[in-house]
Amino acid sequence: METVKYTSNSAKKSPMTPKAIIHQRFGDKAIYKVEEVQDLTQHGCPGLAVLQKGPCLYRCTLLLPEIIVVSDIFKRKKDAEQSAAEKAIEKLGIRQKEYNPTILEAWDDLASRLVFLFANEFLSSLHPLSGHFRAALRREGHFNGCVPVSVIALYDAKIGNICKHINPAAESSSLLVMSLVLKAAAKQTDVVLSFEEQLSLKKRNPYPPEIIQPSTDHESSLCYGGTIEVVRIPASLDKDVETVKLNIAATGYYLDVIGQELGVNEASNVLISRTIGKASSELRIYSCAAKRHLWDQLSELDVKQHIHLEGSLNERASYFSGQFVYGDAILASVGYTWKSTDLFHESVSLRTYYRILVNKIPNGAYKISREAILAAKLPVAFTTRSNWRGSLPRDLLCTICRFHNLSEPVLSVQLISLDSSQDLPGSHKKLKVMEADREEKSEAGLAAGCGNLVGSTEASSCEVKLYSKNQELILQCSPQEAYRRQTDAIQSAALKVLSWLDIFLEKPDTPLEKLKAVAEKLDIHLSLHYFLKEFASCHSVHKCGIAIAQACKSLNYSCSSDVVKDEPLFVAIGGQSSGTTPSNGYLASVCYSVSLVSDEDCMKEHLESCEEFEFEVGNEAVLPDLETVVAQMAVGQSSNVQTELVPCELILAAAGDAAATLSLLSSRSCKLEYNITLLRLTEPLEDRMEQALFSPPLSKQRVEFAVRHIKEFSASSLVDFGCGSGSLLDSLLLYPTSLEKIVGVDISQRSLARAAKSLHTKLNSLLDAKDTSSAIKSAVLYDGSITKYDSRLHGFDIATCLEVIEHMEEKDARLFGDVVLSSFCPKILIVSTPNYEYNVILQGSTLQSLEDDPDEKNQAQSCKFRNHDHKFEWTRSQFNRWASDLAARHNYSVAFSGVGGSADTEPGFASQIAIFRRCNDDYDRDRVAKMEFGHQYVVLWEWNTEDLLPKKE
Ligand code: SAH
Ligand code: MG
Repeated sequence: METVKYTSNSAKKSPMTPKAIIHQRFGDKAIYKVEEVQDLTQHGCPGLAVLQKGPCLYRCTLLLPEIIVVSDIFKRKKDAEQSAAEKAIEKLGIRQKEYNPTILEAWDDLASRLVFLFANEFLSSLHPLSGHFRAALRREGHFNGCVPVSVIALYDAKIGNICKHINPAAESSSLLVMSLVLKAAAKQTDVVLSFEEQLSLKKRNPYPPEIIQPSTDHESSLCYGGTIEVVRIPASLDKDVETVKLNIAATGYYLDVIGQELGVNEASNVLISRTIGKASSELRIYSCAAKRHLWDQLSELDVKQHIHLEGSLNERASYFSGQFVYGDAILASVGYTWKSTDLFHESVSLRTYYRILVNKIPNGAYKISREAILAAKLPVAFTTRSNWRGSLPRDLLCTICRFHNLSEPVLSVQLISLDSSQDLPGSHKKLKVMEADREEKSEAGLAAGCGNLVGSTEASSCEVKLYSKNQELILQCSPQEAYRRQTDAIQSAALKVLSWLDIFLEKPDTPLEKLKAVAEKLDIHLSLHYFLKEFASCHSVHKCGIAIAQACKSLNYSCSSDVVKDEPLFVAIGGQSSGTTPSNGYLASVCYSVSLVSDEDCMKEHLESCEEFEFEVGNEAVLPDLETVVAQMAVGQSSNVQTELVPCELILAAAGDAAATLSLLSSRSCKLEYNITLLRLTEPLEDRMEQALFSPPLSKQRVEFAVRHIKEFSASSLVDFGCGSGSLLDSLLLYPTSLEKIVGVDISQRSLARAAKSLHTKLNSLLDAKDTSSAIKSAVLYDGSITKYDSRLHGFDIATCLEVIEHMEEKDARLFGDVVLSSFCPKILIVSTPNYEYNVILQGSTLQSLEDDPDEKNQAQSCKFRNHDHKFEWTRSQFNRWASDLAARHNYSVAFSGVGGSADTEPGFASQIAIFRRCNDDYDRDRVAKMEFGHQYVVLWEWNTEDLLPKKE
């Protein structure tokens, strides 16, 4: 049994990974050798004589100067390495030194850290803080040499860490850190002078000139005349966010310049936020510390959570930084880094500002990761790794947690064994969770050998936990679903959490009851108290959104996702139809460009375009309007659609010139105009496989199989259960048959719409051509679930149900069987479904080349279904048992056949088929006649030859 904890630095127990500990101790004397291990004992396709290549497994040998250790066997190289390191740590009895001082020791450490920082040597070191020390020496007048306490508190991680031990609240309060630093400094008067009224510290004894000269001169030559662009975020929501140019004078101190812009004239009155956005960025919010007022508070050590500063709360800046910011603020990307002694600086544009805003919400972060802010949408499901585009859910979740100042999310994977007494390799319902207790699991994880990992009947589930920085559990998601592949389990669980956070953050108006209900649906449990505490500042998200909307007062602000449109969007589509149209599960590749257009005049501003944008059809991976349009297009066609505006921050985040766009938005009423071309469609793996490996393709062979039976029985009526886009009904028209009436049933309206379109065209052209080979007089498409009975479809000559049952939950598939044979009572029923045993052949030969995803190759392939939407796939014996029992229950006979491969060669047909025949014709009509359930299905489309309209069945 294996449990893998996915967290970059499992913050709670040990802050370092085993490998990091080994590295700390042995450096590059530690040598890791990873080898592949092939396991030959596995792979359960009983009686199968085909040699299969199993998934790769890895074992790691760690060579250290003192010992050699060998890891357990894992599916991932990195897990093997960590396991080896962990074993070495155990053997050597080393644990990294934990810093766990008493309060008194911590005070001592704080004092000696200050002494270290103010020592001569520190001035020329490569430390983000030393730049400030050097810059302080370039300050003029009585500020010369004065280093703001804020930078000491912020830029030295050691100081922050020590302060946490003195008072845990220091973790989230930089003001508290500052006050602790000042207090420690007050006891070191022989080393530092504190200027309390200035909130700065100065070295008591001047630096020797030979140290000052080289280090302070250096930078001035590089940064001469530098101007940087920053964004000003006014406290008042009535004022627009705008860009400002700051001149960081060559010889000065940039914090003085920022202070002056904020109206506090010097550096020590500037408060600096933690970094915003990417961990590596220097993007921070600068605001002013109101002098005396603040200082009075600081002198009392017990800093309250919300120190009331002068000025009013700056909601936008607070939301940005996740801290309370008062008064006007400046967003700038500037600072000293570990990399160089020079000052790092970058311009910050309005676009950057809006992109960060958008990035705080999962949907927005996904859009940005795809560089398709005005087209992409966080998909509703993680179907397959190969169809996912943009950042993976797990990575998005990490980003969102970082942006909202939470701990790294903890994802734990649990391996689940199938109960071996059941030979139902496909059924999720038969999965049994083998372990309950978490603690046990992690131990078992290391103790278990490879034996457990390679069985063919295993699945994973994944649990996600979000913690605050203080390690309070705020949210837990424990999905019910199990997955064949670990990645799928991990990503799907992460996506659930993202979807919920998205609703919470994007629509803060959502009533709590509804949020709770959605959470329950997503298997999410909230620790509401802690959750709301963590997201307190997100109240301002909403206000913030409104503020932006206010800036665009004149426009018709509406969030398109709120409006459920009933009527489909009809669009003009240009270009010849190639006949290839998208269905669910297809990967569509489009080229688009979006502009802002105003109705009144011909103003048009280009916002975003993409040469090639791919998305999975039917997974809500693009804006709904775009999906509707693309669904109506064929490869090679283009169209032009206008849609309502999306929220302004999205438009501004996409726009090249945010200021110009903002003024356009606020002066006119605008719409978005999309120009979109469907470049390519990639069929789902199952279809690609069926086409690549079989000639004619399996789908065609299934149609021909049905046609043979129609002819054999001179059938005049046919119903296709789960007709999808009508591939069977469509193809039947190509053959001369006795069919007069054809009917299709499906639950997918989108597919039915496509079926209608193509049947309509084909039937009419047959009619026009006076083609006498077709006897078809009527065709109907119904929207409904085939587990329900509709008396209009009673007693047909032939019923087909091709490749449908595996898309239903197993119990529904069984229910369908009973409903058809007991109520619909067709003379013949043909049911096809994949033969699970055949998958090894498909996978062995082409799966890897068709699906070039390294992640998937490593996973247990023998378990893989052909299509992510399959709920199960049956072996021959499972299928036979189901069909035989079903036939016996309802007085039908059954025969078995198939297409692709042959019955006599292992492992049988690729697609297995059962043909049921009603045994005697005097079946109980009365009983059936009594079953007047009314009409359960809804007619979606109907076609009749006008003159020969049949009155009644
Ligand atoms: N028979 C078609 C489509 C197979 S795909 C072909 O061979 O090409 C499976 C289809 O089953 C999908 O169109 C899906 O919408 C449909 N389906 C799944 N569950 C259904 C249900 N309960 N009732 C009706 N159709 C269903
Ligand atoms: Mg299928």
